[in-house]
Amino acid sequence: MKELLTLTAHELMAKFAAGEVAPEEFYALQMRFARHIEPKVRSFLTLAEDGVSPPDVAARDGALWGVPVSIKDLLTTTDFPTTAGSRILEGYAPPYDATAVKLLRDAGNYFTGKTNLDEFGMGSSTENSAYFPTHNPWDLARVPGGSSGGSAASVAALQSVVSLGTDTGGSVRQPAGFCGVVGFLPTYGYVSRNGLIAFASSLDHVGMLARDVTDIALMMNTVGRPDKLDATSQAPADADYLAEMNDRESVAGCTVGVINQMMDPKLVSQDVLVACEVAIRVLENAGCGVKRVDLAGVERLLPCYYILCPAEASSNLARYDGIRYGAGFPADISRTLQQHYRAVRSPGFGEEVRRRILLGTYVLSAGYAEAYYNQARRVRHAITEGIAEMFEGVDFLLLPTSPTTAFGLGERIDDPVKMYAADICTVTANLASTPAISLPGGLSPDGMPIGIQFIAPQKHDGRLLALARLYEEHAGTGYSVPPLVAEELAGFEE
Ligand code: GLN
Repeated sequence: MKELLTLTAHELMAKFAAGEVAPEEFYALQMRFARHIEPKVRSFLTLAEDGVSPPDVAARDGALWGVPVSIKDLLTTTDFPTTAGSRILEGYAPPYDATAVKLLRDAGNYFTGKTNLDEFGMGSSTENSAYFPTHNPWDLARVPGGSSGGSAASVAALQSVVSLGTDTGGSVRQPAGFCGVVGFLPTYGYVSRNGLIAFASSLDHVGMLARDVTDIALMMNTVGRPDKLDATSQAPADADYLAEMNDRESVAGCTVGVINQMMDPKLVSQDVLVACEVAIRVLENAGCGVKRVDLAGVERLLPCYYILCPAEASSNLARYDGIRYGAGFPADISRTLQQHYRAVRSPGFGEEVRRRILLGTYVLSAGYAEAYYNQARRVRHAITEGIAEMFEGVDFLLLPTSPTTAFGLGERIDDPVKMYAADICTVTANLASTPAISLPGGLSPDGMPIGIQFIAPQKHDGRLLALARLYEEHAGTGYSVPPLVAEELAGFEE
C-alpha cells in the first residue's frame, strides 16, 4: 500500500472513490511515513497525532475530501499551536482557524501538522526559524528554500499530499522550485488572509504547494473563496479553477514573454538558464508564441521590496509584547514598561526579525520616510505599471523561479544581502499583485530541481493554471520522488 504515498491528491481521491483505500487508512499510513522520515528532513514544527482533526463525513463533496494537508505555521489553527517560527509566540493557542484552514477543514481534509518556516516568513531558507532548519529532501546538506520550506519539503518528502503556504516575496514559489514541486501565488485577495499572521500586509498572500497543477486547481477550488473577514478579499464567488485549468482554448496560440533581464548570465546560473531555454522550446512545441521582452528597473526590485516589506513588518510586529500573544514570556510586574519590552522583544525575536524592525522603523521615521518609504512606493507603482504594459503585448511572462538551485545550509545565513538576492525573480509578482506559479523544470547536472516561473495579469489565475497545465503536459519534468526519499520508502515497514 505504501506506493499510494507517491500519488497526487486527484489520483488518491480516485482510489478513495473506487474503494481501494479508505481516507482514514491512508491518513494513518501518511502519518507513519511522515514520522519515519521526519528526523532526516524536519519539515514540521508540530506533527499531528493520529486521529487529530478527522474529516467531517458530511462534507464528502469537498474538492479535496480526505486528503492530508500540511499547514505552514504562519496560519492560525485551533487544534495545533501556532508559532510563526518565533520564540515570541511560543505556547500561543489561537482561538480561531485561518479562513483557508477552516475551508479545508470543512471540506473534510486531514491535517498532518504545522510546517517549519523562517520566523514570521522572513527569509529564503528556513534557517531563520527560531527552532531548527529544515533540510532539502533532494540533498540534506542544502536548504529547502523559504520561508515555506517546511511546506515544500513535506510535499516533496511524501509527508503530505498538498500544503498551504504563504508568499510575501516568493515564499511559496522559491521553496517549491528548490524542492521540485509546484507552488502557486494567487492574485492578491483571491485567498483570504484572515488568520494569516501579518508580515507585510500589502504583499502577503496565502498560496499552495502540490505535486501537480491539477492539485493546485483543486486547492484553489476549496480555499479561493471570498471572505468578509478579510477587507482586501476580492475572490470571484463561483470560480471553478479546475474547469478553467482544463480550458485549453483559453491558452491556444497564446504569447509568452521571456524577460531578458531575468535571463542575464550575470544574474542567473548556467543550469537555470539552460532549463529556461528548454522550457521555452517546450512552449513553442505546445503552440505558444515566444517573445523576448525587457523589464525596466530590475535593479530596483530588491531595494523596493526590502524597504516596503520591513516598513510594513515593523508596524505589524509592534503588537508582540509577550502579554497579548504567546506564553513564553510571563509578565514580571516589578519591571517598568520599557524594561518589559526589552526583556521580551530582544530575546523573543531572532536576528533577522530585529534587523527588519529596525530597518522598517528607520525608513518610516519622519526624517527618512520621503527618501525611502515614499520613494519605494513610487517605485512599486512604476513596476506595477511596467508589468501591466508588458501584458499589452504578451499573455504571460516566463522567468526562472530563482537564480540558482538550492544552496547549502549555512552558506548564506551570515550575509543577509546574499540571502535577499535569492528573491530577485519572485518579488515582481508580489509587488505587482499578479498571480504566479513555479513548476518543476527538470534537474541540474548535480541532481537538484530547477523551478520555471510563469506570471499572468491580475485576476487571470484560471488561465495561468491552464498555461501551467499545458506546460506540465508537454515538458515531462513533473514531480518525481527524490532519491533519498525513495530509499526511505523502500526501507519503510508499513
Ligand atoms: N524571502 C523573502 C523575505 O525574506 C520573502 C519571504 C516571504 O515571501 N514570506 O522577505
